[in-house]
Amino acid sequence: MIYPELDQARADWRWQPPSNCLAGRVILVTGAGDGIGRAAAKTFALHGAHVVLLGRTRSKLEAVFDWIEAHTDTQPVIVPMNLEEMNDESADALYNAVSDTYGRLDGILHNASLLGPKVPIAHYPTFEWQRVMMVNSTAPFILTKSLLPLLDAQPQAAVVFTASGVARKGRAYWGAYAVSKFAQEGLMETLADELAQTSSVVAASINPGGTRTSMRAAAYPAEDPETVPPPEAHMDLYLYLFAEAPKALQGVAVNARDWTGPNG
Ligand code: NDP
Repeated sequence: MIYPELDQARADWRWQPPSNCLAGRVILVTGAGDGIGRAAAKTFALHGAHVVLLGRTRSKLEAVFDWIEAHTDTQPVIVPMNLEEMNDESADALYNAVSDTYGRLDGILHNASLLGPKVPIAHYPTFEWQRVMMVNSTAPFILTKSLLPLLDAQPQAAVVFTASGVARKGRAYWGAYAVSKFAQEGLMETLADELAQTSSVVAASINPGGTRTSMRAAAYPAEDPETVPPPEAHMDLYLYLFAEAPKALQGVAVNARDWTGPNG
């Protein structure tokens, strides 16, 4: 038992993936050092993927890197990067690094996100607004644009954005976080519509729903963490999207809690 939380969650998964369903694939995970991104990175590696671990805290990325090296035969790399500073040049440098290291890219999980302050719009600091918009919606746009040619070269590839309950219905005091998630959904739908006729790349989003992470604890400090599922609960859906890149989910915003499996 190398990953007890995953073993425990697997019993309730709605899709039981083959153990090598991502063998040889290369997947970029942003925010890979903590929370849902860390669980996804470890899960993908356990299913055979080489994971590009992008995040802003090097020590957290190194811990995930060490775990993957110790428990799998895959070759991860770490990319310490603050997405607030993402621009075309840094995205192109990442393109070259991925291309030189692996010669391919099969998926991007846009998972990193900033919660930002939970204050009324009337009092929302403009500086914080710009930080949140940059990390949550502009950086995914820049990364996707730069890396799309690598994805396009694969017969099965996926770009998965991470939505939220406030991505479709705004909510008081969620400020730039809600607006940035609306923007990310719009980016996903626009991209999917462009890809549908011309590419094998599938773009979709996952709303993980309330999940036991430090972001959730910051947003709901009075909540007992045990009342929400751990990140591993929905890893079947994440695996399915990257393993199958299903055309049926092109442009679809999937609620992880409602997903009933590939035929649902
Ligand atoms: P966490 O806060 O646990 O993890 C977020 C990750 O994003 C961290 O690894 C963090 O890095 C990274 N990150 C934040 N800012 C930057 C930046 N500027 N540059 C690079 N990396 C950055 O959050 P969750 O795991 O809970 O959230 C994952 C995704 O799921 C997010 O998109 C979130 O909006 C979404 N979500 C989560 C829900 C929940 O209940 N948890 C519900 C709905 C959606 P570092 O560790 O270094 O700070």
